[in-house]
Amino acid sequence: MPTLTKYKRVLRLTPRTLKYNRILLKLSGEALMGQQQYGIDAERLMQYAEEIKAVAATGTQVAVVIGGGNIFRGVQAEAFGLDRVQGDYMGMLATVINSMALQSALEKLGIPTRLLSGVTIQRVCEPYIRRRALRHLEKGRVVIFGAGIGSPYFTTDSAASLRAIEIEADVVLKGTRVDGIYTADPEKDPTAVRYSEITFDEVMEKNLNVMDMTAFTLCKENNLPIIVFDMNKEGNLQRLIEGETVGTRVSMLGSTTSATLDAKHSSLQPTTEHPLTN
Ligand code: UDP
Repeated sequence: MPTLTKYKRVLRLTPRTLKYNRILLKLSGEALMGQQQYGIDAERLMQYAEEIKAVAATGTQVAVVIGGGNIFRGVQAEAFGLDRVQGDYMGMLATVINSMALQSALEKLGIPTRLLSGVTIQRVCEPYIRRRALRHLEKGRVVIFGAGIGSPYFTTDSAASLRAIEIEADVVLKGTRVDGIYTADPEKDPTAVRYSEITFDEVMEKNLNVMDMTAFTLCKENNLPIIVFDMNKEGNLQRLIEGETVGTRVSMLGSTTSATLDAKHSSLQPTTEHPLTN
């Protein structure tokens, strides 16, 4: 029966040993700049593609949301004398440019990908349709979500949370240039220490900066864990997929009793490395 054959193929792609069956990886546009002041750094792009390839090879289903801050952000619109909504659409198009670059880099490495956009651009990508996204993932294709959620006044962090919930991802992996969430801004405060785990409630109580509030609330309300980690450290993404503790994990766990909360506080891990790697 053809359907059964297809189903078996999907099962083969998702072995039980994997920590996560399906992930959503959020990359910021700024990270793509590497050492540059603007645009895409070719070396950094290929590095990310290699990292994604290694994870996809394990059978983990990978969806990616990439930002556009290396090209344009809606908030810059005012400086250009543009209205905000126009600026946001420009930002969304910037994310499509980055997504296309990542798609090409992955294809160069032999990884099948599909780019699904929240804004219809039919010559270059498919429109975002949830069921199509799921089908692509089941077939082992890396799915890139471009153009955020397709609406102004949102960010790609919100798109990452929303798409992750829609596709029932197990976790949002927020790849940044910082290796986790700190008690204070590690760039300004040398005494800042990194959390290995923290609850959604603690993040809110302490007013820590993980994602914008819309994105964060979506994850909290849907019990979707977030892991903030350093994407620029080689192999970090794969280590995470293999279940190693990398970066900071934000989840509901531990928020039920104050005793658990206290235990969490004592698990603060001072970091020995400089938190910023680029
Ligand atoms: N944007 C938007 N709606 C979305 C996603 C993005 O309007 O759903 C616009 C917004 O102007 C944003 C820009 O696209 O500033 C680029 O995205 P973002 O700032 O999230 O990129 P990152 O900071 O991750 O590079």
